[in-house]
Amino acid sequence: MSRSIGINTGKTRERTSASDESVLAHLREIVGAEHVVVDPEKVEPYAQDAVKEKFPPEAVLFPRTALEIAEILKLANEARFPVTARGGGVGYSGGAVPIEGGVVIGTDRMNEIKEINADDLNVVTEPGVRTYALQQAVEAIGLFYPPDPASYKESFIGGNIAENAGGIRSAKYGVTKHYVLGLEVVTPTGEIIRTGGRTSKNVVGFDLTGLICGSEGMLGIITEATLRLLPLPEATRTVRATFRTMREACACVARFSRARVTPVAIEVLDRNSIAAVESQYAFGLAKDAGALLLVSVDGSAEEVGRASRVVEEILREGGGYDLVRAATKEDEDRLWDVRRALSPAIKKFGTLKFNEDVVVPRSRVPELIEQVEEIGRRHETFVVNFGHAGDGNIHVNFMCDRENREAVRQAREAVRETFAVAIELGGTISGEHGIGYVKAPYLDMAIDAPTVETMKRIKRALDPNGILNPGKMFV
Ligand SMILES: Cc1cc2nc3c(=O)[nH]c(=O)nc-3n(C[C@H](O)[C@H](O)[C@H](O)COP(=O)(O)OP(=O)(O)OC[C@H]3O[C@@H](n4cnc5c(N)ncnc54)[C@H](O)[C@@H]3O)c2cc1C
Repeated sequence: MSRSIGINTGKTRERTSASDESVLAHLREIVGAEHVVVDPEKVEPYAQDAVKEKFPPEAVLFPRTALEIAEILKLANEARFPVTARGGGVGYSGGAVPIEGGVVIGTDRMNEIKEINADDLNVVTEPGVRTYALQQAVEAIGLFYPPDPASYKESFIGGNIAENAGGIRSAKYGVTKHYVLGLEVVTPTGEIIRTGGRTSKNVVGFDLTGLICGSEGMLGIITEATLRLLPLPEATRTVRATFRTMREACACVARFSRARVTPVAIEVLDRNSIAAVESQYAFGLAKDAGALLLVSVDGSAEEVGRASRVVEEILREGGGYDLVRAATKEDEDRLWDVRRALSPAIKKFGTLKFNEDVVVPRSRVPELIEQVEEIGRRHETFVVNFGHAGDGNIHVNFMCDRENREAVRQAREAVRETFAVAIELGGTISGEHGIGYVKAPYLDMAIDAPTVETMKRIKRALDPNGILNPGKMFV
């Protein structure tokens, strides 16, 4: 069977279906028959990610080695069927979803942490290791892997690198790409390449490691990663405060820096977020609160003591009230429960959530939120804003009823206007979730035409047949 597909480089080519018996037989030879899944019921979970739209693959393959992946990609180029890599499948932009069919490569079996080098502060890992498992393994010997997307218990290291994931610790420690020293990657045409190395300094050749980080599974499949580690901080402490306005809360962020304190996390919740968690879970938060800040510091016990006192002072002077400082790990967890309760709490406001993650320079967060609230009012769409005040990355959630076409249309328009506002304020349309297929129609709002064309040229050079993760990023 053969049909025509549009490829994300803009070309159209004939392809063979990956479910053709001869193709399937070849795939079974490569990875072993037991690691090729075609039963529609078993394939179903691989049809979607956190966006929850379904595009079933023709087959799901679970290779064990880079060599097997190289063979799959060579075959895909000969027979012209799409291949999409998948990690934990909790992406928020549809990156791991095979929207043009073909095969999904599940990296679940590539789940070995190969070495932890305590003296050199690095870890060599396969891509299918869960973020949390890697964090636990290194923390057990006093080391620290800072990138921590909230999805850390489900996401894989390969997915984190492909999305350049951030998280609540980004305010101090940066994002995934700041920890990737080297990669083994299978290119879309099936060559196995090595980028970077094991040293923190390395300027030999083009920075291909940087190119692959955040490439959303479109330029190669990561089969091994060497990641930078830090010594595990001795202590952490969290302080929570409520404020009358978002402006008051956000003004504290710059004051921390002026007082030479760099919190690990500065998370902000807006009025609607507070009302949502309070009405459902009764944390005892002030009902009149316009904003809430959660601020964590880390370091030696002595540093943490000083820094948390400075944080408290700044929060109080900045108009913060109902201050709570965690004295124990359990108290700290309880403070963070408010943040964790958000996702389930806002579900009651609609059956469909447009979960955006715009980013602006952190001093512009209050303006962003004021304008987003205005957009929500104009489109009669309930909006909940919360996120990473420390790096200006705000989760804007427009809620609507999936069955109400007019409400969905209004919410989509609200999303587009929010992107325009973020860009206008000096930011962009995604800080951590990536583009995938979901935000592809908006790419040209954020990036000019010559730059998009340069990206397409890189894609075409590495993937001349457009077989790796087609339909993403570029419309
Ligand atoms: C509740 C929730 C909270 C979240 N919180 C955060 C957050 O705080 N910060 C954040 O950054 N994101 C967050 N996300 C988004 C998401 O979890 C991250 O993007 C994460 O990095 C995805 O990892 P994954 O393993 O699930 O990747 P997948 O969804 O499986 O794949 C994502 C992309 O990576 C590609 N890919 C996967 N494995 C490989 C590989 N080995 N080689 C090449 N490409 C590959 C896929 O093709 C796809 O394009 C959240 C998601 C949810 C559902």
